[in-house]
Amino acid sequence: MSYVGRLAPSPTGALHLGNVRTFMIAWLRARSRNGKLIFRMEDLDHPRDKPGAAGQAVDDLRWLGFDWDEEYVQSERTARYRDALDRLTAKGILYPCICSRKDVEAAQSAPHAGEQLFYPGTCRDRFANWDEAQAFLGTARAPCWRFRVPDHTTVGLTDVFAGPFVQDVSNTLGDFPVARDAGGAGYTLAVTVDDALMGVTEVVRGDDLLAATPAQILLYRALGYEPPAFCHVPLVVGTDGRRLAKRHGDTRIASYRAAGVPPEKFLGHLAATCGWGDGSPTTLADLLPVFSLETIPHRPVAVPRNLVL
Ligand code: GLU
Repeated sequence: MSYVGRLAPSPTGALHLGNVRTFMIAWLRARSRNGKLIFRMEDLDHPRDKPGAAGQAVDDLRWLGFDWDEEYVQSERTARYRDALDRLTAKGILYPCICSRKDVEAAQSAPHAGEQLFYPGTCRDRFANWDEAQAFLGTARAPCWRFRVPDHTTVGLTDVFAGPFVQDVSNTLGDFPVARDAGGAGYTLAVTVDDALMGVTEVVRGDDLLAATPAQILLYRALGYEPPAFCHVPLVVGTDGRRLAKRHGDTRIASYRAAGVPPEKFLGHLAATCGWGDGSPTTLADLLPVFSLETIPHRPVAVPRNLVL
């Protein structure tokens, strides 16, 4: 089977050093296997999406030399997610839930490490159907759809980079939300449906999403799809060990561009953090012969505040 990979940014902020390191690994992984690469804008988290961020991300990636073969936008694919919801409800796998909005809203975006919430199953056998749950709430808001995780469900996978990973889904996650209302897919459902329909054979992403993978595997199985391989790579963090964010100073691609840093210098620096070269300026194409997952350290890469390149 030929390789299909993907780059899947969310337009919730500007692309930074950390995003690009992961995308660089994903690009090299696909291109070194003569694979196809899909670009997918994950813009379903409307309240957190920033105007202009989607266009800026494309522009930044092109400036760095990234290319891809197909391009999609999640907000244009809602009919496919609704179809998946219909299939899951027809199988009795989902149930309506009226519990707090907080975790449902959180489920709109990818649950990065530490952001996963446990749901104790309060509404599991509470309503006979959606209309009953909606009638209970009145017109103020809609219920959400939750995935009924069978008791004692443990999901294991062998990650291409991170190795074996096992999660007791029933006790760490519980019945996770898949849609914020009758049709509005959350991250877990959208990413699963898209990766399946787009024929993605391997998901390369930050390892703060490793713990989000078992729920996706349950959805693959429930929808009758074969899960892809997963390759979760360590993140770039600040000197405090936390995922790169605003508090670590300005590591946005756009800022380096504005400061006149050439893309080759940027890539050379990131390549060195993966064990490919000494940090000299380079291009994605020049990295192809030296690319290997084996040299990437199995720990996060820390960058100093306001790293100057
Ligand atoms: N769009 C997600 C994010 O940027 C990543 C989703 C994924 O790779 O599965 O957080």
